[in-house]
Amino acid sequence: MNNNNPKIHIIGAGISGLIAAQTLEKNGFSSTILELTNSVGGRVKTDIIEGYQLDHGFQVLLTSYPAAKRFLDFKALELQEFLPGATIFNSGKSQTIGDPLRDLSLLFPTVFSSIIPLMDKIKILKLNLILKKKRIADIFAEKEISTLDYLKNFGFSEQTISQFFKPFFSGIFLETKLETSSRMFEFVYKMFGSGNAALPKAGIQAIPDQLAQNLKTTKILFNTKVSSVEDGEITLENGEVLESDFTIIATDAKHLISDLKQENVKWKSCFTLYFETEKRVLEKPIIGLLPKENSLINNIFYNTSLETSKNGGKELLCITVVDNQNLKGNELIEKVKIELKNYFNIDVLRLIKMYEIPKALPDLKNIKYSLDLAETQYSKQIYLAGDILVNGSLNAAMLSGESATLAVIENIKSNLKA
Ligand SMILES: Cc1cc2nc3c(=O)[nH]c(=O)nc-3n(C[C@H](O)[C@H](O)[C@H](O)COP(=O)(O)OP(=O)(O)OC[C@H]3O[C@@H](n4cnc5c(N)ncnc54)[C@H](O)[C@@H]3O)c2cc1C
Repeated sequence: MNNNNPKIHIIGAGISGLIAAQTLEKNGFSSTILELTNSVGGRVKTDIIEGYQLDHGFQVLLTSYPAAKRFLDFKALELQEFLPGATIFNSGKSQTIGDPLRDLSLLFPTVFSSIIPLMDKIKILKLNLILKKKRIADIFAEKEISTLDYLKNFGFSEQTISQFFKPFFSGIFLETKLETSSRMFEFVYKMFGSGNAALPKAGIQAIPDQLAQNLKTTKILFNTKVSSVEDGEITLENGEVLESDFTIIATDAKHLISDLKQENVKWKSCFTLYFETEKRVLEKPIIGLLPKENSLINNIFYNTSLETSKNGGKELLCITVVDNQNLKGNELIEKVKIELKNYFNIDVLRLIKMYEIPKALPDLKNIKYSLDLAETQYSKQIYLAGDILVNGSLNAAMLSGESATLAVIENIKSNLKA
């Protein structure tokens, strides 16, 4: 091995792989990324279809993510911010609630909303204060319980949980029972409380595109599937074997390392449907929630309520289905259309596209904020990264890519000294 110019490979050009490459470059090293598909971004992609920007699943960047603040140029992304709240649709009526301290237009609707009883409004303010002060490290050092138990223990009423917390966080955690770790709840709640949800003007893929554009010496080989990894070598699906002094696996390593002692990752899935509509029932950029047991629709959002780089001419409505109740294809689409009419009074013009995303978020227990450098090292020459090792978020993907790379660099430097 040439320690001054080691051969470093990164498997996967998702967010974690791109951050790994950037961190190597910043420290004077170059690498080659091997990517299965024909573009960067992994789970973070945007299609342009008939002039509309369609993200692969409704996802947002939280502007207070500490890693995003370090790694992204928010200004260049032309971030378009959501209102800090939600409009809840119920029995033919809708009510908007939100954080009046950050957007004054939400003051009156929130104070007068009957969805959340007064006692719970006070508890929400108390939770805001507690989490504002709580350090992220302390959040991730807490004992994990389910988010549902956390909310009950905090004293929230059944009404507030079912009408607000359940629909709002089901859309974020992609599961309807709020079984997700209370650490993730506190972290996400804290992030929402100290920043905004936002989308780049050109869609969510502008994030990996920006990271890729920053790379100067990294080589990216697209349409390159890795089939196995061992110390010192990588075997591609086409049989080619690459020598590799250090390999960072920035994706699920289970199918690449034969004897990896790691449980199979379980995944949370969702369906995202994009419809064209004539007009909007939500004028402002705010999420609409449906707090109804057994409904398919979890949340709605008009992408065209934000400024977008491309615009198909009419309104673009994004629907997230978390629990598809075993429906697929036309059956699912037809039931969603009926729910849109019955609960939101929305008539759609046509479906633009439906995405089925079976592997959206990893379903993890014992979630962490980040990885210690030593935790990323699998063997002498193989290092692991990816949100699946930490928690399902852009922030975690970024931090994991950085940690694995810093561990590699530490190893190279100690070899140089030896
Ligand atoms: C629907 C949805 C909603 C989400 N919502 C949010 C949100 O609102 N906020 C948030 O912060 N996060 C959200 N996320 C999570 C966020 O997108 C992920 O945490 C992050 O993108 C994970 O990045 P990664 O690099 O760890 O993995 P990935 O994006 O999965 O990247 C892995 C890469 O490795 C490649 N690869 C895999 N196998 C091989 C192989 N054998 N050979 C070569 N290459 C290979 C893949 O093609 C891929 O490019 C959401 C995700 C989805 C899907």
